[in-house]
Amino acid sequence: MRFIYILVFVLMSLFWVVQTQNHPQLRFNSAWDRITHPFDTRLRFRVSDVDPRFGLSQTEVIQLSKEAMEIWHQGTNKDFFVYDPKAKLTIRLIYDNRQDHYNAYKKAQQKLNKEKQQNDLHAENLSNSRQSLAQQEAQLRSRQVMLHAEAARLKQEYASWSRIEQRHGENLQRIQQQLISVRDQAAQLDHEIDAFNQQNNEFNLQVSSFNQKIDQYNAGVIQASQRFPAREFHKGVFMGDQIQIYQFDAEADLRLTLAHELGHALGLGHHQDPAALMYPILGAQQLEGFKLMPADQTLLYYR
Ligand SMILES: [Zn+2]
Repeated sequence: MRFIYILVFVLMSLFWVVQTQNHPQLRFNSAWDRITHPFDTRLRFRVSDVDPRFGLSQTEVIQLSKEAMEIWHQGTNKDFFVYDPKAKLTIRLIYDNRQDHYNAYKKAQQKLNKEKQQNDLHAENLSNSRQSLAQQEAQLRSRQVMLHAEAARLKQEYASWSRIEQRHGENLQRIQQQLISVRDQAAQLDHEIDAFNQQNNEFNLQVSSFNQKIDQYNAGVIQASQRFPAREFHKGVFMGDQIQIYQFDAEADLRLTLAHELGHALGLGHHQDPAALMYPILGAQQLEGFKLMPADQTLLYYR
């Protein structure tokens, strides 16, 4: 009788070991779950903590975790996971200085982007002004040249007539009238040139204040890069009994991060394909409607 008990125990232990080898994710289920569901090879998980500062409710995160699970289901046609409110493996969204830091980084980037947009617009306006000023200047110059030529011509004509006519002759008087009109026009032109020069000075002031703004912007970019150096960091971490998420951008980002950490729970390591779910950094993957990549399938095949 005792022998039978021992045999059953040995067989059960053997079954347990073999099953764990074939389905490594079972390591993270509780012993009780494995005893009560001996043939269920799905990894059980639940969402236990969602810091409200992330701006998502627990229900929303549960939904996202189910969508993350679905990525694995659709990519493999296998059920690797099941959501179980009593599971041992918990997903926790932990808000700490990492998300704070990331939010500050995003804010700084937004501010710089806005500044850049304004600067670009400003540069375009200045370039338009520069063009219009150049046109005005060319017009003023050509008028000046024409008036000089006209005055020279009239003076020559006057000299010619003065050899023929008396001092108050008809033609000489006409030419004098014309000369007065040219002189008036020249005076008017001088006024316009003064106004133009003033406008040009103002424009130059605008350009130098714009250059200051550009310097400020560049200093801001350098400051931001010092304050937020580019670094490779995980947005989540799988710890055996917990998946901790401490930073994400938006829901699509969180969904993929969860799917990535669930991949670790399946016993997978990282892959060097940047488009793969199991690439160590989230960034190059397609965020919406993500499908498992061949790289991910390969990892699963060789696990
Ligand atoms: Zn990872």
